[in-house]
Amino acid sequence: MSEIFNFDGEVFTHDHPDFAEVIETHSSHGVAPAYLVRPTSSADVAAAIAFAEDRGLTLAVRSGGHTAYSSVEDGLVIDMANFNSIEVLEVGRVRIGTAARWGEVALALRPHNLAISSGDNIKVGVGGLTLGGGIGWMVRQYGLTIDSLLEAEVVLVSGEVVTASATSHPDLFWAIRGGGGNFGIITHFTYQAQHVEGVVSGTINLDATDLTAALTGLRDVMVAAPEKLNTTLMARPAVGDVMPASIVIVFCYGGPAGDEADAAIAPLLALPTVISHEYAAKSYAEVLTDEHLPVGLRIVDNNSFADELSDELIGKIVAMNKAADMSVLMIRWIQGAVNRVSAEATSVGYRNASLLIVAAVLFPGDAPDEATAPVAERWEWLTPYTNGMYGNWAFDKREGMLNRIYPPATLARLRSIKSIYDPKNLLTVNHNITPA
Ligand SMILES: Cc1cc2nc3c(=O)[nH]c(=O)nc-3n(C[C@H](O)[C@H](O)[C@H](O)COP(=O)(O)OP(=O)(O)OC[C@H]3O[C@@H](n4cnc5c(N)ncnc54)[C@H](O)[C@@H]3O)c2cc1C
Repeated sequence: MSEIFNFDGEVFTHDHPDFAEVIETHSSHGVAPAYLVRPTSSADVAAAIAFAEDRGLTLAVRSGGHTAYSSVEDGLVIDMANFNSIEVLEVGRVRIGTAARWGEVALALRPHNLAISSGDNIKVGVGGLTLGGGIGWMVRQYGLTIDSLLEAEVVLVSGEVVTASATSHPDLFWAIRGGGGNFGIITHFTYQAQHVEGVVSGTINLDATDLTAALTGLRDVMVAAPEKLNTTLMARPAVGDVMPASIVIVFCYGGPAGDEADAAIAPLLALPTVISHEYAAKSYAEVLTDEHLPVGLRIVDNNSFADELSDELIGKIVAMNKAADMSVLMIRWIQGAVNRVSAEATSVGYRNASLLIVAAVLFPGDAPDEATAPVAERWEWLTPYTNGMYGNWAFDKREGMLNRIYPPATLARLRSIKSIYDPKNLLTVNHNITPA
């Protein structure tokens, strides 16, 4: 019997032998909540919310734990770990608990020839990625992960359990498709999965000394490429003598091997600075990886959308990348289905974009603020050519962040919906939208 009234799940406090283990996540090291609870039902979730409110504990919600928002010092963490089921329903619909990981989802759907475009990492959680949009390996064909979302089961902070969909609480359904965990705690999502019999995926190594040629070549191919062709360009610095600098295009053609796939991929292979390449027919599940940014370093990252990768923008990106020794750059081409969903249909911003630019500079863990400050100044060089920010790749709290993630009208609507569903702002450990 726990101290939380009507709570049947597990409760971990400092004196629990597993406490140190259960509080650790990918992104919240050394943060010690007063309570970490693992509900087993919607009623448990409601009981935990009521307990946190009653005790004045700050509430954090965790699915995959890939953001620092998955824990809170001295507060109460609702860890959704027991909500990890993956059920294939009729006509390709799939109901998934929010703490399932995308790698598990891809494996569970593979025998059914189904897939949900949902990110590149096996361990990222269904909950956080979906609530922020979701840019996956078939984004150009099928749009964001939220564009495949049919409904969500939500425990409101009042304790009421509701279904959010196009016909039930449509305002809530709009808000949770981009607005993060601000509006309630989601136990399950139901998606329309895509029929995917296989993909063709691989890597192309380019001359690491010529980022301009790599970006120009990528742009020229991708503006005309079929939507089945999805790419991410990664430029990485050398790490001592162990790892040379590299520019790699990772691609995923969302269809079976054959002439059509070969024709789509050929222009990438023919880029002038290609050094080597490898690719093969795979299942969608095999395309997801377990790659992570290194731990123990101070990582200063920025991201923004762009409608086009103009020569001017390429010039600025190259200059910015050159200015720091340890710059990591990622360009994700997203042009396609994302652009065809109207800007008003979901709360995610900047759907006109053709690409997402993510840049990180790596510093030693103890680097002072003076050392890292120029990163933000150099990022501003891109501002005339870019729009907004992708909230899922914004890992820390910064001044003005919400105004970058959401266009003004979207943020105003989110704040007004927040005032209906979480008027006391109990759900704050996120990109927090305050009630209107
Ligand atoms: C290595 C790595 C690779 C990534 N790759 C991609 C990618 O390819 N594409 C992409 O789009 N994004 C990617 N991301 C970003 C990722 O989508 C976000 O970090 C996402 O928020 C992680 O979700 P999570 O459930 O793992 O994290 P968590 O930290 O558990 O949750 C993130 C946020 O969502 C809230 N939340 C989580 N679950 C719930 C719930 N059930 N109810 C209410 N609120 C909830 C949390 O409170 C928190 O604010 C990547 C991140 C990392 C670290």
